[in-house]
Amino acid sequence: MAKFPDYKDIYVFVEQKNGEPAEVGYELISEARKLVSTIPNMDYKVVGVLLGDNVKDKAEEVIAHGADKVIIVDDPLLKDYSTQFYADALTQIIKEFKPDSFLTGATVLGRDLAPRVAARINAGLTADATKIDIDQDKVADGEALLLVTRPTFGGNLFGTIVCPDTRPQMATIRPKVFDMAPIDETRTGEIIEFKPEWESTTPQVEIMETVAKALEGVDITKANILVGVGRGAEHSIETIKECAKELGGEVCATRAVVEDGFMDKDVQVGQTGKTVRPSLYIACGISGAVQHVAGMEKSDMIIAINRDPEAEIFKIANMGFVGNVDEVLPLLVEEIKKA
Ligand code: FAD
Repeated sequence: MAKFPDYKDIYVFVEQKNGEPAEVGYELISEARKLVSTIPNMDYKVVGVLLGDNVKDKAEEVIAHGADKVIIVDDPLLKDYSTQFYADALTQIIKEFKPDSFLTGATVLGRDLAPRVAARINAGLTADATKIDIDQDKVADGEALLLVTRPTFGGNLFGTIVCPDTRPQMATIRPKVFDMAPIDETRTGEIIEFKPEWESTTPQVEIMETVAKALEGVDITKANILVGVGRGAEHSIETIKECAKELGGEVCATRAVVEDGFMDKDVQVGQTGKTVRPSLYIACGISGAVQHVAGMEKSDMIIAINRDPEAEIFKIANMGFVGNVDEVLPLLVEEIKKA
């Protein structure tokens, strides 16, 4: 007899802003598809949950990205993110549909929303995860127990967390740790519109104005080529910016460089910064601390320049140059441009 016979399927919260779903939702749907394929006998579905105002036309897109079913709440109260209304709607969806697992991106919004919902329904939540598996030993007992892995002790250890006694098993997962499967317009699925019974329609918080933060350059998580500045290259930032421009890339940094005030926190890569997956990452004067590596090790090609031949960064680099950044980088850029 299954331990939680009423709970089924993997649900993914598809975060959106101004009606545009964030990529992390689709990354999680792609990963959820892989997870359900490891438990074919349980007939689990992947369900997308989309909240917003005028978002109905996005349901087909969620299905094309891999969902079998989409639950939508389309309501003017959900136009802008509000903890009150979003948590209210999600709590009711979970109580009504009883998901076995519920995944949310570890974005600013997801980190606010998921714990509030978990507290309301008394569920376990693993925050800021980087890996998910299903415990295959439990499948024979009819249980799809998630093994959710997250960095701990400053990124020096990884812990795997399970929620054996509560449902749904909730987790927030970092953006960019999973691949987004290619879109498939031929997919079909069920769309369910859910109407919550609002506890109150009076907002507890009123948004007076929304001001978009001006980013320096583009969003580094979308860059195809990144040149990373470490403390050993702080003196060469202008050269590095020029080199990145020549390659059509962007500049990012370690936390040390951000803390030293040379670059903005928006471009910090790593455990407490952003996770990036460019096709080329050139690490300049970066030692290769685990907390930095956690944010860039999935880049397709990593080239490291460091004057210390024993630097940790060389262990994960596809190609390494022992030398001074000022001397090596311009030569490297010339060679890459010729290639
Ligand atoms: P350093 O470690 O000082 O390394 C500088 C490197 O430059 C050295 O390897 C040196 O050999 C080389 N070098 C010096 N001069 C030159 C030169 N002229 N040419 C070539 N090479 C040269 N860090 C992050 O980056 N991102 C995070 O998100 C992050 N989160 C953290 C979270 C926690 C909880 C903690 C405890 C730490 C975190 N850190 C993070 C910090 C991390 O541990 C490291 O301290 C940091 O990444 C080191 O940055 P660095 O490689 O630029 O500097």
